[in-house]
Amino acid sequence: MVRRLHILVPQPRSRFLLVRCPVCGNEQVVFSHATFPARCLVCGAQLVEPTGGKAKINGQVVRVLG
Ligand SMILES: [Zn+2]
Repeated sequence: MVRRLHILVPQPRSRFLLVRCPVCGNEQVVFSHATFPARCLVCGAQLVEPTGGKAKINGQVVRVLG
């Protein structure tokens, strides 16, 4: 008897976003459903705040990447 393993699949609406840091203007790619805080690589400002679902973006979304 074959049992299917539960496989973790990406959420269908998840995207990579190009976000501009509101503090220093650095543009950085972040995950739209991030489960951990992402910080600006230049100044350290928090760009993404995990909420359990779609992450809260603290900067301006410049572009949505495929
Ligand atoms: Zn910054």
